[in-house]
Amino acid sequence: MQRISDKDYAILEGIVGKQWVSSAPCVLDTYAYYQNPETMNKDGSQWLPRPAAVVLPQTTAEIQEIMRFCCHSPYMAKPISTGFHTAAAASQENVIVLDLKRMNRIIEIDAQNQIAVIEPYVRAIDLQTEIVRLGLNCHIVSCGANHSLLASHAAAWGYGVSGAATSYSGRNLLGVEWVLPTGEIVTLGSAGAGCGWFSPDGPGPSMRGIVRGFQGSFGGLGVFTKCAIKLYKWDGPREWEFEGRSPKYILKKIPPRSAMNAIAFPSRKAEQDAGYKMGEAELNHGEFRTPMFFAALGLTENNEELKIALDSGLFQKIGKDIISTAVFAASEAEFAWKMKALKQILKETGGVIIPMNIPMRPALLRMAGRLTRGVQDPLALLRRFPFLQDWIGHLPFGQKLKREKQSTLFWLLFRNANNTQAAFRPSQGMATMLGAFDTWDLAHTQAEYVREVKQKYIQQGLILDDGGDLGTGGTFESGHLGYLEGIILYDPSNPQSALAARDLVQTGARDAIERAMGLPIAGFGSEANELFGPACSNYHTWLKRLKAALDPQQACDPFFYVEGTEPGQKENGRRSDDHALDFGYPVQPNLRDLARCKVRSRGGRPAQGPGAFHPCAESQVADIPYGRELRRQHGADDLVGLGRTFHLGLCRRRSFLGRSRQSQGGKAQ
Ligand SMILES: Cc1cc2nc3c(=O)[nH]c(=O)nc-3n(C[C@H](O)[C@H](O)[C@H](O)COP(=O)(O)OP(=O)(O)OC[C@H]3O[C@@H](n4cnc5c(N)ncnc54)[C@H](O)[C@@H]3O)c2cc1C
Repeated sequence: MQRISDKDYAILEGIVGKQWVSSAPCVLDTYAYYQNPETMNKDGSQWLPRPAAVVLPQTTAEIQEIMRFCCHSPYMAKPISTGFHTAAAASQENVIVLDLKRMNRIIEIDAQNQIAVIEPYVRAIDLQTEIVRLGLNCHIVSCGANHSLLASHAAAWGYGVSGAATSYSGRNLLGVEWVLPTGEIVTLGSAGAGCGWFSPDGPGPSMRGIVRGFQGSFGGLGVFTKCAIKLYKWDGPREWEFEGRSPKYILKKIPPRSAMNAIAFPSRKAEQDAGYKMGEAELNHGEFRTPMFFAALGLTENNEELKIALDSGLFQKIGKDIISTAVFAASEAEFAWKMKALKQILKETGGVIIPMNIPMRPALLRMAGRLTRGVQDPLALLRRFPFLQDWIGHLPFGQKLKREKQSTLFWLLFRNANNTQAAFRPSQGMATMLGAFDTWDLAHTQAEYVREVKQKYIQQGLILDDGGDLGTGGTFESGHLGYLEGIILYDPSNPQSALAARDLVQTGARDAIERAMGLPIAGFGSEANELFGPACSNYHTWLKRLKAALDPQQACDPFFYVEGTEPGQKENGRRSDDHALDFGYPVQPNLRDLARCKVRSRGGRPAQGPGAFHPCAESQVADIPYGRELRRQHGADDLVGLGRTFHLGLCRRRSFLGRSRQSQGGKAQ
């Protein structure tokens, strides 16, 4: 482990204040544990590099000073907003993580011009809660509304379920305040010229492409300290009442002029066509292609019921091509028009609105499975006589159940809130492959490819048998764009299963080039650039040049953005070729290797949920309970929580004792 020297530590304390720096191992380790680490690390282990220190700056001026410090010291900076994704990890141990939690202000909401200016730790749910009251909404990505809007707009990805109505984050960026790796400040676009935050481009040549590009700069090109985002008109409810408690909240009343439906199409082709048609008619506020397995998961309460549902064979017949949708309208007349248009589209494509008032009780599922054993299309009658869909939906039984299911879609497709523990309850581990943001047709080509390529892993019991097709996503901008990522559910406690997931991601990446399936979601960072760059106009060479020009001292951790120099370019002396991390591209273990592979075991897995910024010594950590109890015991409620680790596994105590840590390459010179 790289220990930060007392002198350097004191410099950081001088910049942000004593309280806001830590190099305590227990704190650093909450920054070394992320989602599906076992599929990201070269040796399949669960820990990412432990950073040298964590600092919590509060102002742009403090960030400038930290960047200047990094320019003249062996350290590199890594900014994170909520730290939701593994791309927020330090790639080496000489990295100082800048956790931007204290920069959490909504600076301005310009309702008239539909613009909000925000700091990094404004979570999507925070802003949305403020703006729906004003009849406005923003684009929220599908990892859930607790992500940072600034991060998704300015720094990384940006695809969410409301893409049909609110585009995608990269397109909604209206300006940034940017601390360059050298410590200078650039404010892009109209705001930089003192004219307000309405345009990210000009005057003169625009830097927006450099800041945002297709995927983002992933913290490798300085720190974004403010950004302006575009807001959209919101026609749904401005207030709603609910009952129940976590994890199940049920709307007391379904808001007027809204419709939340799961629609089953008779074929993939029909589903594709309907996606375009609904987009052209601008029907949906939110939509989510819901694969058969996720439909069964969402309609059952526990794994036992899920198994019964799948064993019934019913879902495999009716659920192969489902899209869940949420429609909102500003007036009764608009709502009536939208419902009419939806019915017409369903008529043209054979789609059926699945009645939500029918209970999915195990006995009923078994019976329905038996009754429909010889039936190819159990929904044929509803398809042929569409009025039956309405009629069943309005029968006097199951109305509370229907409200419950509609509420789930309301939270998911409007509030971007999901019960993660329930969503991943059968496997606890999730990885994703492909998912290029391109046309809706290409999205389906990828989903179909993923379904096929997963089969041999399913047959060998290496990943969960979800039927293969977990292509999730939707359309964007009136059907103009679309994406479906191929989810893989694996068992994180089984190294062979984790490596199978990794192998799938690699295979997908290779075939994305071979079969022209676009740039995958995981197509970012140093190693992916080398693979995809040559197939995409050599973009990686341009990234290297930009990095060299804007970060001459390599003050920012380059790994998730771009590493290395072009021939003839000046080496900055901080290259790091030997990473523990990768996205798996160059190495290609085949299934035989997987069976042989040895993976180092580690101590307990860290708990998920909020940790605490607490200066406890390493030796104290082994036996302390986590979460609320820790905060209570240590009076930590008044401290800013630093822990933002996310894992789909169960909460466990962590043990640092006896834990081995691989040595990291590429330390500072
Ligand atoms: C289970 C899961 C599902 C996901 N699903 C989706 C999805 O459907 N669509 C999607 O778009 N994304 C998805 N993501 C990825 C990611 O979480 C989101 O894109 C999110 O918007 C990033 O915001 P954050 O607060 O999580 O950023 P962080 O995790 O804090 O950072 C993400 C990246 O941005 C950089 N960064 C953060 N803040 C700054 C800053 N102020 N200045 C410069 N660089 C910065 C970080 O260094 C890092 O590389 C998913 C992630 C997970 C774990």
